[in-house]
Amino acid sequence: MDQVYSKELRADTATLLIPIIAGITALTTLLVAISFDTFATSWHLWLSFILAALSGLYGWHAMRKERPVLGATIVMAAHLCIFFLIIYQNWSPGSMIPYLFAVLIIASSMFAQPDYGFLIWGVAALLTTIGISHHTEGFIDLLQYVAGPIVVNFFIAGAAYVSALEWQLAVESVSALHLKAQHRRDELFEIQEELRLTNAKLHSTNEELEKARETAVAERDLRTRFMNQVSHELRTPINAIVNFAHILGQGELGQVNNRQVDYLTRIEKSGWHSMSVLNDLLDLAQMNAGEFRLRRELADVQAICEEAMSSVRSLLRNPDIALMRDYPDTWPQIMVDPKRFRQALLNLLGNAAKYTDDGQITLRVRQHQHTATFEIEDTGIGIAEEHHETVFEEFRQLDETIARHRIGTGLGLPISRHLIERHGGTLTLSSEPGKGSTFTITLPLAPQEKDNVNGSGSAATIAPERPF
Ligand code: ADP
Repeated sequence: MDQVYSKELRADTATLLIPIIAGITALTTLLVAISFDTFATSWHLWLSFILAALSGLYGWHAMRKERPVLGATIVMAAHLCIFFLIIYQNWSPGSMIPYLFAVLIIASSMFAQPDYGFLIWGVAALLTTIGISHHTEGFIDLLQYVAGPIVVNFFIAGAAYVSALEWQLAVESVSALHLKAQHRRDELFEIQEELRLTNAKLHSTNEELEKARETAVAERDLRTRFMNQVSHELRTPINAIVNFAHILGQGELGQVNNRQVDYLTRIEKSGWHSMSVLNDLLDLAQMNAGEFRLRRELADVQAICEEAMSSVRSLLRNPDIALMRDYPDTWPQIMVDPKRFRQALLNLLGNAAKYTDDGQITLRVRQHQHTATFEIEDTGIGIAEEHHETVFEEFRQLDETIARHRIGTGLGLPISRHLIERHGGTLTLSSEPGKGSTFTITLPLAPQEKDNVNGSGSAATIAPERPF
């Protein structure tokens, strides 16, 4: 590949120089021929002129046909003949013509291979000897005239060889660099193309992701709206059922017998249960939509705990179950939304009541350096280790046969955990099947500010942070 490149360069040089050399020779021989008196003494110059002109024209033509070697060879051959003719006819001691072969030697080294100069030198030496021998007598005489041009031309051939070789090496190394650069450029183009394709893919994946996200958000909004609407629509009739059953059960609208009272109580109980399920669904919908807001204040924790403990009594499966209170001397000060904190406590105490058949349920409150803990401990059926996290997932009920006897939706724990976490706390579980469970709420203590110490907490609305 490199040599092809240097050959092309030689051909270009020949295309430029061959017509110039031929032109100069033709002009010179023509001028000198004209200056001669007779054709008899100048015929070889006229012939040289014709040879130079014709070889120049043919050489030019061959170059244009992209056959530079043929063109250069014809011109070289013609010039060898011309110089020989001139030496043969016009040589005299001191003539510079034999030295003109140097031009051909240099030119052939440049046009063809570097060592072609020696070939032309050999031919030139032969022609010089023949031409000069025509004008001298004896070997010594001949030797003294041919030695100079032959030796000088030989050195010129050597110098031309070295320069042409250097030139060739330089050209080839430049062309090798050029090729390398081209190769690099091609590689860069390929990398650029790959990058473009990867970019395009990334772009389309991004678009797909964005679309998927939009669809998911739209679906979530739709679900939330639907749940909100259904919950609101159901709340009014259930309220009516519960209230009317209560009024009827009280006998306010006329006498009712024991059986009727029993049925009305059941209707009222079921109504309340439906209402609490609805409330859970509504909470869940709000949490999912990120619309859930807390109103935090420095709450009366003791009152909330007592209220929850009293409420849970009515939920006990067995009246013999002991409700234990393990309270501290000083109650911790925490900033909570009282309604939501009570809801979480009631959920956990309600579960303890639901899943405990005998033994006891304890509410243990403790204050630590920076936190307060509320442990709801029972001696109920317990939860296997592998379910300690799944029970906090939405709609998860572990043993459906057990759950069916103990009414529930599988929403209590996830909602409670979310409520506690929104207060900056945690809800954890430790439990062993058959031995009971302990759910622990940990909440940060309120900052010790003057206002808080005095117990006059101010309400604060916390904006929703993240969807459930
Ligand atoms: P549910 O309305 O079914 O009680 P929860 O989210 O409150 O829903 O509880 C999820 C599941 O965790 C329950 O179905 C039950 O299997 C289990 N669980 C919750 N609390 C207790 C507990 N104190 N003892 C044993 N199992 C419990």
